[in-house]
Amino acid sequence: MNPRVARFREALARRPILGDGATGTQLQLLGLAPGAGGELWNVDRPDQVRAVHRAYRDAGCDLLTTNTFGGTSYVLAGHGAAHRVHELNVAGARLARELAGDRAWVLGDIGPFGGMLEPLGDVTEDEVTLAFRAQAAALLEGGADIILIETMSDPAEAALAVRAAKAAGAECVIATYSFQQSAAGHRTMMGTTPAAALAAVIAAGADVVGANCGTELSLNDYVKLTAELVTAAAGRPVIVQPNAGSPRLVDGAISYDESAAQFAAAAPRFLAAGARIVGGCCGSTPAHLAAMAAHFPK
Ligand SMILES: [Zn+2]
Repeated sequence: MNPRVARFREALARRPILGDGATGTQLQLLGLAPGAGGELWNVDRPDQVRAVHRAYRDAGCDLLTTNTFGGTSYVLAGHGAAHRVHELNVAGARLARELAGDRAWVLGDIGPFGGMLEPLGDVTEDEVTLAFRAQAAALLEGGADIILIETMSDPAEAALAVRAAKAAGAECVIATYSFQQSAAGHRTMMGTTPAAALAAVIAAGADVVGANCGTELSLNDYVKLTAELVTAAAGRPVIVQPNAGSPRLVDGAISYDESAAQFAAAAPRFLAAGARIVGGCCGSTPAHLAAMAAHFPK
């Protein structure tokens, strides 16, 4: 086993792990236009990507997430860069690896491919599997320790991504879904329950499971969701990476409500609910993570 992965597993068994926060929000503060392909910055503006990783590392984060959320050929096609999967993902992993050194582990980030699988859509499982596998292989080649599959809604897609990452050689795979509040309880956008969502990725071999992002979920809601996830995880470690509150449109820009202090106050509640890794998603900043760090002794 990769010695860094072995050290991660030891640490996870011994103490809670602090994830990092939003990448996209931070790059937008550095000038990335909303909707632009942030992955292109791994090659075009590497110093900006380094600055985000450095800020999270210095905040005390144990995990640095690569700037490759939209790094499948399907999403990159929207930026005319479908042919640059290998280049952009290797570059993204190298940047995070460079800043992580021995102080943090690198999560190679994979988001949804952005379409619908057959029969709802026109993309086959084999095509999507190839796309995820190519991305995961490039992330591992660039130095990712762990593959993070996140913001998933469709358990079939999430399971394909987990299997593809393992087939590419990942020794540890984290899989997380985005949940929203519905009348029936927490569901993914596809209507999947936490129990069914986690069962699908556990069957596919995910090592750590949980939730990230989410719509209309307060930190209180997220604590309740954490307890559901721990039950559904059947003994697998659980990760939660909530948004810094719900997104709101303020003067035409998306803003988030939860302060760093509110995030920090929620951290021990997530741990008490059974989460083993806690980080942030959209709207969370290095200040949010630094405020949480006291709850994550090394
Ligand atoms: Zn998010």
